Amino acid sequence: MRGYNIDDYIGKRFNHLTLIKNLNKLDKHNSKLALFKCDCGNEKELVFTQVLSGEVTSCSCKKRGKNSNLTLTSVKNKKMEFYKNQTQKNNKTGYTGISYINGKYRVRIQINHNSKHIGYFNTLEDAIKARKDAEEKYFKPILEKYKAD
Ligand SMILES: [Zn+2]
Repeated sequence: MRGYNIDDYIGKRFNHLTLIKNLNKLDKHNSKLALFKCDCGNEKELVFTQVLSGEVTSCSCKKRGKNSNLTLTSVKNKKMEFYKNQTQKNNKTGYTGISYINGKYRVRIQINHNSKHIGYFNTLEDAIKARKDAEEKYFKPILEKYKAD
């Protein structure tokens, strides 16, 4: 995503995570990494836009807590969860929000726990570009909001 600077968001809180440092480095998918401090005290390097969008809400301590409550969910929900996990496993492209389905690359973006469908693309390159454009479009208002706080 162009046109933003992680340094502007230091000290801002995103769910359970507070941005403490711009690492000025990229992960293997060219996504910008930043250092966050979780409510539990852990510090973790995370992809900035994933934290911003709500795809990542904690250092992963909260996720673990959620899974241990699985006994409370209905059998139907468990089945759905299982199906979802299987599908995600089979269609992994290694890129956030991009899955490979029936010969096409499906692009989605998660905004505050809602998954938005962006489209189907013939090549992974087009899908990556679409995902970056979507990040630009959907994350910008969120960035502006945090900046204004
Ligand atoms: Zn944590």
